[in-house]
Amino acid sequence: QTKLKTKAKDPYPDWKAGTPVPYAALCTTFSLIELTTKRLEITEHCALFLRQVLRLTPEDFLPTVLLMINKLAPDYAGIELGIGESLIMKAIGETTGRSLAVIKADQKEIGDLGLVAVKSRSTQPTMFKPKPLTVKGVHKGLMDVATVSGNGAQGRKVDLIKKLLSSADAHSAGKVDIHKDKVEDPLLTALSELPSWDVIIPTMVEHGIMNLRDKCKLRPGVPLKPMLAKPTKAITEVLDRFENQKFTCEYKYDGERAQIHYVAKDHSNEYIDALPGATKEAADGVACIFSRNSEDLSKKYPDVLEKLHTWVKKGTKSFVLDCETVAWDMAEKKVLPFQQLMTRKRKDVKTEDVKVKVCVFAFDLLFLNGEAVVEKSLRERRELLHDAFTPVEGEFSFATHMNGQELEEIQTFLDESVKASCEGLMVKMLDGSESGYEPSKRSRNWLKIKKDYLSGVGDSLDLVVLGAYHGKGKRTSVYGAFLLACYNPKTDTYETICNIGTGFSEQVLEELHKQLSEITIDRPKPFYSHTTGNQHQPDVWFEPRYVWEVKTADLTLSPRYKAGAKEGVDPSGEKGISLRFPRFIKIRDDKKADEATSSRQVAEMYRKQESVTKSKGPAADDDF
Ligand code: ATP
Repeated sequence: QTKLKTKAKDPYPDWKAGTPVPYAALCTTFSLIELTTKRLEITEHCALFLRQVLRLTPEDFLPTVLLMINKLAPDYAGIELGIGESLIMKAIGETTGRSLAVIKADQKEIGDLGLVAVKSRSTQPTMFKPKPLTVKGVHKGLMDVATVSGNGAQGRKVDLIKKLLSSADAHSAGKVDIHKDKVEDPLLTALSELPSWDVIIPTMVEHGIMNLRDKCKLRPGVPLKPMLAKPTKAITEVLDRFENQKFTCEYKYDGERAQIHYVAKDHSNEYIDALPGATKEAADGVACIFSRNSEDLSKKYPDVLEKLHTWVKKGTKSFVLDCETVAWDMAEKKVLPFQQLMTRKRKDVKTEDVKVKVCVFAFDLLFLNGEAVVEKSLRERRELLHDAFTPVEGEFSFATHMNGQELEEIQTFLDESVKASCEGLMVKMLDGSESGYEPSKRSRNWLKIKKDYLSGVGDSLDLVVLGAYHGKGKRTSVYGAFLLACYNPKTDTYETICNIGTGFSEQVLEELHKQLSEITIDRPKPFYSHTTGNQHQPDVWFEPRYVWEVKTADLTLSPRYKAGAKEGVDPSGEKGISLRFPRFIKIRDDKKADEATSSRQVAEMYRKQESVTKSKGPAADDDF
């Protein structure tokens, strides 16, 4: 607060109560944030600014928060800016009259397009003073850029960006790319049940933050971030965790997570109106399906929506179901492997063209007949689930479960799950408040036991591809190996973890080469944490976009990598964690880069390794 006060008496003379929030004011806050890495200070700058917005221009609170967290709309709205570096460079060039070659050279030297914009801008003579940008105006401008489609969309996008840039003063020009910061409780609680800023912010402005919980409850139409499980690698570990507490085991189906939302026509208009993703009339109502990522999957699974009426009981008026869609063998009447499901088209599927049939396996119920049921125990939710729906072979099933508490029973059930083509078991707390559904949490009340990691490292990792090495020998036309990283949400950085060259077929390598060549960048991003010695540099760097599932024999410390280095695994703080013998499993299309395995999870896996104290061989750095 003092910093801001001493700077100027009234830094924003144009910002009066009721006038739009000046974008320059937000940029000043961003600049102050840039000067520090301390979370508390960052939070303070944000809080100070948001209080000012609330006091002077509460109606701009929503766009202000959205710009602060680097979003234009809720995730499930599927709105993306869709502009790459080259488009922005073009716009900067056209706005400032500088040639693209000069801008590219600047970018190479400075490495931050925001600063390049500032530099370009300050060399441009200003003939007249354009109207200053407002937060609302920038949000709308970016929305316009994001929603342009059809013929000549790229050109129109450039025009819209130019419009924004020409109104920006030198200081704001660098900030037209939007910033990101973390949000603190109790907003987080409300957001995990109802991840919709458009609903939460106006409610908070009107009723105050302390009333959010009452006012913002989960509802059909707004997808929740799913509850996640912790990995384990021995049944005994499960028994230790749930000592003296009732738990239940379920088959762990290997398909795609799906959240099905439904409201019957004669139920509640309030809910029906809230179904933004609803694309399908189904079973005398409207329904939609969301992915683990809150993307609308309704166009991928029209066949599921069309069959809804066969398994939703008549008296069931509204629900939110947590399930797994799994490829189904009609002839053999059994589950098919995940790879089959992956061959399904993702968009605009027509039911008559569907070749891979799916069956829905429901394992949880979050909302039923107008009421959120997440706080009920799993035993109660399961009972409600079984009462509200009717299983139909090959269309809809309840996840197979078993409530036995003995080691042998669990072992037998695990073997059965594997015979039924499942991945293993999910073990869940059954009774009491701890068995409630915890949206967006990786909870110790849900444990997963996968058949193939009962020995070795507990889980596969989902890692981001940051760079690649040109192939040698047979692989000269493709990348032969890749540099992978985990994500550290505390510092918003990608920390390198291994090089990988195993597990790829020739065909996969070709596809990856095509995909990755499109997102190469000239130099590592400032938020890549990697060693800098020349011999350790990959030949090319990429935008942090693709997430791959990777298995490993075990984890070891290595001075060459940075993963988890700040998590206290190495007393000197110099070594990071690295994977030994990493093997590529598959691309995780359903995860974004910042949903990759976190540095903390990597550190947890490392600590869990039984043989941490025993000495290890050298890290398998050169797995080429
Ligand atoms: P995570 O979701 O934990 O990040 P992941 O996406 O790699 O990891 P897995 O580790 O394979 O997935 O396990 C969790 C997933 O298993 C769930 O997200 C869900 O899609 C699926 N699943 C299958 N059967 C069940 C079940 N009975 N209960 C809960 N989840 C299940």
